[in-house]
Amino acid sequence: MEEAYERCVYLERLGLFGCIQCGKCTAGCPINYVTPDREPFNIRTLVYDVLNAPSEEIASEKHFLWQCTTCATCSLRCPKEVEPKDVVMNLRSILVEDGTLPPSIRDVLKSISVNYNPWGLGKEKRAEWFKGLELKDAGEAETCLYVGCTPAFDNRLHKLARSTVACLQKAGIDFGIFGIEEICCGNEIKRLGDIWSFDALREANTEVFNGYETIKEIVSISPHCFNTFKNEYPGLTPRVTHYTEYFARLIAEGTFKPKKKVSKKVTYHDPCFLGKQNDIYDAPRSILTSIKGLIFEEFDRNRENSLCCEGGGGRMWIEIEDARERLANIRVRDAVDMGVDIIAVACPFCLLTLEDAVKAMDLEDKLQVLDIMEILAQA
Ligand code: SF4
Ligand code: SF4
Repeated sequence: MEEAYERCVYLERLGLFGCIQCGKCTAGCPINYVTPDREPFNIRTLVYDVLNAPSEEIASEKHFLWQCTTCATCSLRCPKEVEPKDVVMNLRSILVEDGTLPPSIRDVLKSISVNYNPWGLGKEKRAEWFKGLELKDAGEAETCLYVGCTPAFDNRLHKLARSTVACLQKAGIDFGIFGIEEICCGNEIKRLGDIWSFDALREANTEVFNGYETIKEIVSISPHCFNTFKNEYPGLTPRVTHYTEYFARLIAEGTFKPKKKVSKKVTYHDPCFLGKQNDIYDAPRSILTSIKGLIFEEFDRNRENSLCCEGGGGRMWIEIEDARERLANIRVRDAVDMGVDIIAVACPFCLLTLEDAVKAMDLEDKLQVLDIMEILAQA
């Protein structure tokens, strides 16, 4: 009896109370597509397993617990409003508390506490993306561009950050950046279960953002940063906008008008943290269709049925060894079958995972992966 009571308390803490075991989350989970040879993900089995299996099994990258991308497909499909992705996050937090973690995840958490970014790179490297650009500091303008760790530290993504700057300048927007003072938003480490470090980052960022009375709007490049600022930073004074909404608004108002033709056939890959988790589907499409010469075609799996690229929830640092292939490869194959020239994305993680898939499949002469900002900067 006591044991049953304890189990109920756990299920409530994890947010699984109310599950009727219908299996819709299992049927929708994209990880099952690439691991057909193993037992499919089952949320109740996962909880049982994590609470009972030996710690070396749980601390292994091979365990499903670390393979979930927190994409939210399961949450969207659940008829009982259970959030299996949050159950995964809550389970991870129990393991962070115990110190039972795969080494790669331990490194990410350490890097955040030392360098304020998950990439294991020194804080000073955050200045590299804006080298040579003359930009205002945050607080000197009402709009502020929050670049985020991945575009700031990844060389390929410097082009994305600089294209965003170019479009803002072309639109005549008075904006500033946090520059070297910018720190991680905490989205990824929260998804990895380190809710304590997340709270510390949230407090530090909130103090900085609210401290500048001039800042009215923060424009975020990554949907992951946008999601966490918008939904998990109570008390944040400036409005937070993803750049797709921001530029869709400027285009609708007539403040920004793409002029040059981009004569390419383009499809759009919905990032889970923008679409499934924040219902932003129309803004990116309206930017693309405003560009002259661009032929837009939808993936079969689009909007809330879009296929996750496998970059979220800490998966940038975890590989699935027994996967038949990566989800990004399936996405790239679909795009090749459609005969498009470009897969447009609106997320730094999607850009890296899909571009890697194009390279791994030796398709660089057939297909490009570009962020909407990069296409807009061309136009
Ligand atoms: S969040 Fe996505 S990857 Fe994780 S369990 Fe749900 S459907 Fe599967
Ligand atoms: S979809 Fe919801 S109710 Fe059905 S098994 Fe999954 S968590 Fe339980």
